[in-house]
Amino acid sequence: MGKDELIANLKILRQIQQIDLELQDTQNQLDSIPSNIARWKDELENYKKEISEDKKEIETLTLGTKEKEIEINSNLETLKKYNSQLYIVKTNKEYSSLLHEIDETKRKNSHIEDDILELMEKSDSKEKNIKEKKQKLEELQEEFNKKEKEEQEREKVLNEKFAQKRKEKEETTSKIDQSLLVKYQRISEANDGLALVSLLGNICGGCNLEIPRQTRNEIQLCSKTITCERCGRILYWEEAIK
Ligand SMILES: [Zn+2]
Repeated sequence: MGKDELIANLKILRQIQQIDLELQDTQNQLDSIPSNIARWKDELENYKKEISEDKKEIETLTLGTKEKEIEINSNLETLKKYNSQLYIVKTNKEYSSLLHEIDETKRKNSHIEDDILELMEKSDSKEKNIKEKKQKLEELQEEFNKKEKEEQEREKVLNEKFAQKRKEKEETTSKIDQSLLVKYQRISEANDGLALVSLLGNICGGCNLEIPRQTRNEIQLCSKTITCERCGRILYWEEAIK
C-alpha cells in the first residue's frame, strides 16, 4: 500500500472506529432500558405489597375487635343470669358472693371495652395511613407510566440510530482495504473498541508508551501501518491524516 493509499485508508478507519464507538454506546444505552423499567416496576410492586400488608393488619385488628365484642356479650349474658339469681339466693353469703361476681364481670367488661377502643384507634390510624399510601401509589404509578413511556420512546430513537449507524458502517467498510479492516477488528476486540490511536507527542495515545524516534518517523511518513509494541494498537499521526 502506497503512502497516499494508506493515508486514505487510515482516514476511513478512523471514521469506522468513530461509528463503532457510537454503535457500542448506543447498544449500552439500549441494554440499560429493560433493567431500568424492571427496577422501577419492582419499586412499585414493593409499595403495593406494603399496602396489602397494612390491609392484612387491619383485618387482624378487626378480627380481634370482634372476638372482644363476643366476649363482652357473653359477659353480659352472665350478668343477666347473676342478676336473676340475686332474687333466688337464700343466704347472705351467697348473695354477697353473687354481688362480688357481678362486680368482677362488670370490671372485666370495662377492661375489654378499653381494649376494643385501643384496637379501633390502631385500626383507624392504619386506615388513614393506607389512604395516604394509596394516594402516593397513584402518583408513583403515574410517574412509572410516564417514565416507561419515555424509555420506550428512547428505545425507538436509539434503535433507529443504531440501524442508521450500521448502514453507515456498511457503506464505510466497503471503501477500506479489507486486510486492514480485519486487523482493525482483531485489535478493536482486544482493546474495548479502541484500535486506532494517534501519536501524542512522542507517546502512544492508547497506552502512553514512549515511541522510539525511528518508529515515530515511520508513522509520520505513513509508509506502512505501525502498531504500538505494548498495546498493539494502530498508531497514526494526526497531521498526516487531517
Ligand atoms: Zn500503546
